[in-house]
Amino acid sequence: MQQGVRITELFSEEEEYLGKTVKVQGWVRTKRDSKAGISFIELNDGSCLRNLQIIAEHEESDYREVLDKLTTGSSIGVEGKVSPSPGKGQSIELHATKIEPYGWADPATYPLQKKRHSFEFLRQIAHLRSRTNTMGAVTRVRNRLSYAIHQFFQERGFHYIQTPIITASDCEGAGDIFRVTTLNPTNIKPGESENIYEQDFFGRPTYLTVSGQLQAEIYALSLGKVYTFGPTFRAENSNTSRHLAEFWMVEPEMAFYDLQDNLQLAEAFTKTIIAMCLEDCAEDMDFFARFMQPSLRENLEQIVNSSFEIVTYTEAIDLLKKSTEAFTFPVEWGSDLQAEHERYLTEKVFQKPASIIDFPRAIKPFYMRVNDDTKTVAAMDVLMPGIGEIIGGSQREERLDVLLEQMQLKGISVEDYRWYVELREFGTAPHSGFGLGFERLVQFITGLGNIREAIPFPRTPGHADF
Ligand code: ATP
Ligand code: MN
Repeated sequence: MQQGVRITELFSEEEEYLGKTVKVQGWVRTKRDSKAGISFIELNDGSCLRNLQIIAEHEESDYREVLDKLTTGSSIGVEGKVSPSPGKGQSIELHATKIEPYGWADPATYPLQKKRHSFEFLRQIAHLRSRTNTMGAVTRVRNRLSYAIHQFFQERGFHYIQTPIITASDCEGAGDIFRVTTLNPTNIKPGESENIYEQDFFGRPTYLTVSGQLQAEIYALSLGKVYTFGPTFRAENSNTSRHLAEFWMVEPEMAFYDLQDNLQLAEAFTKTIIAMCLEDCAEDMDFFARFMQPSLRENLEQIVNSSFEIVTYTEAIDLLKKSTEAFTFPVEWGSDLQAEHERYLTEKVFQKPASIIDFPRAIKPFYMRVNDDTKTVAAMDVLMPGIGEIIGGSQREERLDVLLEQMQLKGISVEDYRWYVELREFGTAPHSGFGLGFERLVQFITGLGNIREAIPFPRTPGHADF
């Protein structure tokens, strides 16, 4: 089949296409008929936010019948001449000579009509919502960010590695985990339960991964600098606007990096990919500024040009205690920071991104490096105004004796993590890494209110359709 020109290309190479005959293919957003016997069709092909205006004159055409049946949602190919547009809001339009219908959309049943639909409604029609301006724009931004992530790391000598989705590690303490099993729960007879896992596919309990970090450490301790970018799963029962049960995580892991190096990388990484997105998705970003947050662009530009605040957890607790803000959760040294605390710190106190470091040992996982005070670990959480935590990371414990002590304290079986311990027995090295929640980043950059719009097919408690 003959491919048309992408609409984004027509707009970006206007001069070149003016006067030429081209073919475009896409979906009708609207069609308006004038009394003068002209139809104006707004065509969108997903390549950019903007629609191409098609001018179809009834008289001199053999597409009259097609025109009558064209409605919002129909899919067509149009051949015509690229002409200067006298209309407002666009510089070029297409004067149709041929219209080829591919598919109709009955206006009586097509759910997307020319009006604003709520995000809740659109989630129920996830097979069609990518045809809306918002979801189209999110998808292009998400795409650009994915590419930017690879660019950033590839240009800095990192190796992209794939860590397993199915894992036997369950010790991360990162929310609840999804079990992976081929056993049929209705066939399990009581009394058989002692050796139930022997009958299971892997012969042991297995789960969907909550993070690729532990395996990434293996590769950092051989290839030096690596990153993973893949799906992670958490059976969090919290129905919040920033948690998904399935989300994508970017996890760099670097040998010979201490916490300071890790902080610097996280900052450079965040700023660089935001800048790339602002530059290359200007039209979509303007759309989000218009409909989500008027100051979006300035806020993001400020982040790109600011330097992140760095404070210790202990300092953060002091700041929170001094504040007059009425928090729902109490502030006490030793308890984890809640979203309200995170947002207060980054939005009110610092008014810019802030990295909190050196958290209490008791509230962080076993693999984080114990500080000299023995009470805190070399952890870091990067907080963003408007959203709170988007990155969690740490320097990893590379000392065998301290790691074993940590495992014992936290009740983690050395037997199960033999391989992890061996990395400290054979050629151990200081190393660090972090995890960035990709959808949190997309949500932050687009100013969307809910993380469910930041991923094509959101999985949340009770929702796994499509
Ligand atoms: P939070 O306290 O916000 O739940 P966390 O402490 O559980 O986050 P980490 O385990 O450090 O987060 O994971 C690293 C990053 O992954 C987080 O900073 C966040 O951006 C993202 N993330 C964590 N849980 C989710 C989730 N359920 N849905 C989407 N992103 C998430
Ligand atoms: Mn969590």
